[in-house]
Amino acid sequence: MEKRVVILGCTGSIGTTAIQAIRDKKMAISVVGLSAHSNEEALVSLARELCCPSICLTGSKPSKHSGLSVFNSLSDMLSTLEADIVLNGIAGFAGLEASVLSLQQGFDLALANKESIVCGGSYLFDFAKAHNSKIIAVDSEHSALAELVQGQSPEHIESLILTGSGGPFRNLPADQFAHITVEQALAHPTWKMGKKISVDSATLANKALEVIEASYLFGLPAEKIEVVIHPQSIVHSMIRTCDGAVYAQMGMPDMTLPIVNALVDNGKNLVRPLDFTKLSLTFEKPDYQRFPLLALAFSILKRKGSAALAFNAADEVAVYTFLDGRCTYPQMIRAIEKTLEKSWDRAPSSFAETLALDREARELTRSYL
Ligand code: NDP
Ligand code: MG
Repeated sequence: MEKRVVILGCTGSIGTTAIQAIRDKKMAISVVGLSAHSNEEALVSLARELCCPSICLTGSKPSKHSGLSVFNSLSDMLSTLEADIVLNGIAGFAGLEASVLSLQQGFDLALANKESIVCGGSYLFDFAKAHNSKIIAVDSEHSALAELVQGQSPEHIESLILTGSGGPFRNLPADQFAHITVEQALAHPTWKMGKKISVDSATLANKALEVIEASYLFGLPAEKIEVVIHPQSIVHSMIRTCDGAVYAQMGMPDMTLPIVNALVDNGKNLVRPLDFTKLSLTFEKPDYQRFPLLALAFSILKRKGSAALAFNAADEVAVYTFLDGRCTYPQMIRAIEKTLEKSWDRAPSSFAETLALDREARELTRSYL
């Protein structure tokens, strides 16, 4: 039977990779809804190509388009659709509401938007359970980990090992950080992604968000999560078991694999096969001094309350300020660290409280920039 799929953020890096896979690989998928924020032309053109009946433009009022049901709010579109699964490829905190709305409709959620987990915390999972929906991680590391933990009893898992490329400044001395340009921060060595996540990969804030994401997804504390720098991005992640063995998932760095695996079972020939004779794989310890945001993730996990939410909000504000050329790289990092100096001990118990705390953190970060 065809899987009815909604793609939110269809004009972005995750969205276009998903659509490319739907074009190239023979899969029993019909796309029943698409969303974008501002790129109406691309949204309409993708809907026509994929024979998708419903579209939603979230950032401004869309025009009418013949033969298409056009929406301005995700809530309106999702509540009218018959679908099996939503791929959430929206960038940033805005993705949380989309995740909540999708789960509310009882749809399964293929979740690229890691901010949903970082900011929604455990209530997102409670919410999924209450609506009988599954959350399937699309982030490559977490998709790999989900495969690796299958068949292992939870007590047998010693730790999760998240790999990270180390980003473009892996070898840059700290005294050069003040001269980093936006172009340099966007030039990721192995993955091609949206701007926000590219800067996060340069500061290792992306790995920090992923540490928090892994803790919620797999129900493990900070002590059971390790990070290792692996510049080639071939090993997508590993698990260490109590008997001393380590299991790894490997493949070319290509988001097609985790995206398609979240949408359908038994995908075939999703990525180029690995030629081991041409590989030279290396692993290093992360440098927590030069990349303090990664260290912050572990302390955030040990704090209760809304520290993870504040971290995400601070990071979004600081990254966009850096991208706009209004602060330097060190000022961006410092503004995030200073925001986290506040206690953030009040855990949100509803979506409305989450929004209020997010706003509070953003204002504080802005005051430091
Ligand atoms: P992009 O910036 O490339 O794309 C973002 C998409 O979201 C676009 O379709 C954009 O629409 C839409 N969008 C932007 N702002 C809003 C908003 N406020 N409300 C609704 N929609 C919005 O991002 P990526 O594809 O790189 O990343 C998407 C998510 O996936 C992020 O959470 C990221 O961390 C995660 N992720 C991405 C990976 C990657 O390889 N790119 C890997 C792992 C995770 P428009 O084009 O109209 O502006
Ligand atoms: Mg990732």
